[in-house]
This record gives sequence, C-alpha cells and structure tokens, in this order.
Amino acid sequence: MRDTTVLISGASIAGPALACWLDRYGFQVTVVEKAPAPRPGGQAVDFKGRTHQTVLERMGVWDEIRQRRTGAFDTVYLDDAGRELAVMTGEFTGGDVEILRGDVAAILYERTSSGCEYRFGDSITALAETRDGVRAEFERAAAQTFDLVIGADGIHSRVRRLAFGPERDYVRHLGYYYCVAGAPGFGHDARRPERLTARAWNAPGRMAARGGSKGSHLYLFASPELDQARGDAAAQRRLVGQRFAAMGGEVPSMLAELDRLDDFYLDAIAQVQMKGRYTSGRVALVGDAAYGNTLGGFGTGLAVVGAYVLAGELAMAGGDHAAAYARYDEIMRRYAKIAGNSNAGRFMAPKTAWGIRGRNWLLGSRAFGLMMRYGDKAANDIDLADYPTLTGVR
Ligand SMILES: Cc1cc2nc3c(=O)[nH]c(=O)nc-3n(C[C@H](O)[C@H](O)[C@H](O)COP(=O)(O)OP(=O)(O)OC[C@H]3O[C@@H](n4cnc5c(N)ncnc54)[C@H](O)[C@@H]3O)c2cc1C
Repeated sequence: MRDTTVLISGASIAGPALACWLDRYGFQVTVVEKAPAPRPGGQAVDFKGRTHQTVLERMGVWDEIRQRRTGAFDTVYLDDAGRELAVMTGEFTGGDVEILRGDVAAILYERTSSGCEYRFGDSITALAETRDGVRAEFERAAAQTFDLVIGADGIHSRVRRLAFGPERDYVRHLGYYYCVAGAPGFGHDARRPERLTARAWNAPGRMAARGGSKGSHLYLFASPELDQARGDAAAQRRLVGQRFAAMGGEVPSMLAELDRLDDFYLDAIAQVQMKGRYTSGRVALVGDAAYGNTLGGFGTGLAVVGAYVLAGELAMAGGDHAAAYARYDEIMRRYAKIAGNSNAGRFMAPKTAWGIRGRNWLLGSRAFGLMMRYGDKAANDIDLADYPTLTGVR
C-alpha cells in the first residue's frame, strides 16, 4: 500500500476516521479541509451500541471519547404556562455516549496529524479521472494526481457533485429546516436536578428548544424549500424571527437574544439518497456525503463504521480498488438503511396539534421503548470484519 495515494476531502469525523485506518494500513493520505483550522465545538453527536464502540476501540479512541462526553440531555416539552407535557429522554437523543462533534474531530485529528498530510483552508475545485488516477485541482494548491479520491465533505459534498452530479439529484429536502445558535447549554432543571435538561415548545410544524446539547437554541420548522434560507445570516435570522413570532412559552425571550448568539447555522433537514452506490470510478463517498440524514441520529456512528469498512476493504483488496469499492457498496447499502428511515422534523415538530399530542403520548408509552430498541438493533445490524488481523495493521 506504500505507494497508493489517497486524497480525502473533509476533516470532521468521516475524513479523519478514514485517514486513521488508511494511514495504519500504509496508504499515503492527504486530507483537504475548507475550514482554516480544525473546527472546535459544534453540536453534540452520539454513539450507540456495541458496533460503534467496537470500531472506536479498534481505533484506540474509545476511552478518550468517553472521558470527553457531555452527558445526555432529557428534552422536556412544556406548554406556554410551563407545565410539563412530555419528556424525550437523553438516552434516545444521546445514545450511549454523547460528545461535541468538534471534540471527536479533534481526537481523530490528533491521532492522524503526524502520519497524514492535512491541508486546511483549501478545497477541491475539479476532478478528472484518467486510467491511472484522479487529477484534482484545488482553490489554492497546485493540481495533483492521486490514486483514489474520497468525499468526506458532508451532506453538501462537493466531491459528490464533481464525481456523481448535482446535489438536487442526490439530496432530498424532507420538508423542514433547522437552526442552531449559541454553544450547547449544559444546565439542570430545578425539577429534575439529577438530569441535564433542555426545555422545548411546540406549535404545529414548529419546535423551539433552549439549553440542549445541539446549541443553546434549536429551532425546527416545516417548510418547502425557501430562497430566504439560502440567503445571508441576517436574512436567515429574520426568517427564524418570522416563523416563531407567534409562539408562547420562553420563545419570545429566545428570539430577543437570538441576534446576540454566535455559531448561528440554518439548513434544510435533508437526506442523501445514493441508491446504494457510494462509489464511482476511483472516487468514493463516506459519512454524511454518502448516507447523511440531518438530525436522523445515526450519522456519526455511520461515519466511523463506513470509514472502517472502506479502509478495511481497500487494505484487503491488495490494490484492486474496484473490488474494494464493490464490497464497500454492498456492506454499506445494507447498514446505511438506518439513515433512510427517519425524518426528525416530523417527530420533533409534528404539523398538526393532533400530531403533537400523539407524539407526546408516544414519548410516555411502551411503544417508545420499542422504537428505541429498533434503533439500537439497526445500529448493530452489521457483521464487522476483523480487517486488522487479516492485514497486519501497524
Ligand atoms: C444540528 C445537528 C445535530 C446533529 N446531531 C447528531 C446526533 O445527535 N447524533 C449523530 O450521530 N449525528 C448527529 N448529527 C450528524 C453528525 O453531525 C454528522 O452525521 C457527522 O458529523 C458526519 O460527519 P462527516 O464527517 O461525514 O460530515 P461533517 O461533519 O458534515 O463534515 C464535513 C467536513 O467537510 C468539510 N467540507 C465541506 N465542504 C468542503 C469542501 N468543498 N472542501 C473541503 N472540505 C469541505 C466541512 O468543513 C467539514 O469539516 C447532527 C448534525 C447536525 C447538523
């Protein structure tokens, strides 16, 4: 593998996780990331079940991830008078270990920065496949040819656009937008001091939450695609203000402080649909670029498992990337089904008053326990190959 060069676009979770394995197997890895430096913070993400844990243990990062976990938040749904209507438990939203996305990225970056070349503040602008490799052009660096190129650049992946086609062919808007603002808020509620809690309010097609693990504010609202949502941050802040203007509870005071909060981010709740093919020629996709589903709850686990499988298959294939990619497609087609099943918008912000009541009832019912068990089962629905023993990892 010593001579095989791999370019990875994206240094969040999928990219450095893949870099970690490829470096151990002896590939020459370059990671290009558009941000000027590793991005700290971000919302909390989570890992659930033994499959995620096994992969993280094999990477040697499980203990550190546990040490830096945030603790899971219960989301308490309230009416306008502050009465409790329902509780979404932290075990549902936070899995076994909840941790800031930036902390996972930092741990993975630290493990890989000496063996891999990281280029921050740059991005691929063009890809052209030849018989022997893929020629990549960059915004800043000189063009270079690599044996393989991997898109780990998130739900709006540029590698996917360059190698597969326009985003509209692969990303489906799920009828909702979300907005996070401010750093995650780590607080206790006087009524349940032993648990971390976020407070949330619903109106049909809307949810506003304060003080949770995603950001100090989290807003979700139902909407078809909007031009305003693609505008600048000021237009996006106005949009949130308009959509939530008539809501009660603490929402008016949240809106009053929204302009002062940093880390404002608004995007569509969307799902990537690759029809089970995450590879094309010498290019492959991993993580959200391949099987993202915003707020679907399994993205981070899928990213680390996908990276493990892709690197392992490449190492086992002894230079035959086409065979490795075919195996990767086959394995992830099945495992990534989990990302196709949910629409967090519909669950967190049902579109009718009846829908909200039904969701609140579900949260307190035995059916909710079954739903959680289904999620746990799906997160483990893969036979992990023991790649390291087969290939003699260094
Ligand atoms: C609000 C919110 C809450 C979430 N909560 C959870 C949760 O509770 N549990 C969970 O498992 N998951 C959650 N997720 C999903 C989780 O964040 C993703 O599934 C996970 O981060 C996937 O990692 P990734 O590396 O594939 O993509 P990303 O984390 O999206 O990273 C993509 C990287 O590529 C870089 N990039 C993008 N474009 C380019 C380019 N053109 N050139 C170079 N670099 C580029 C970006 O800067 C970024 O660093 C949540 C996501 C959001 C938005």
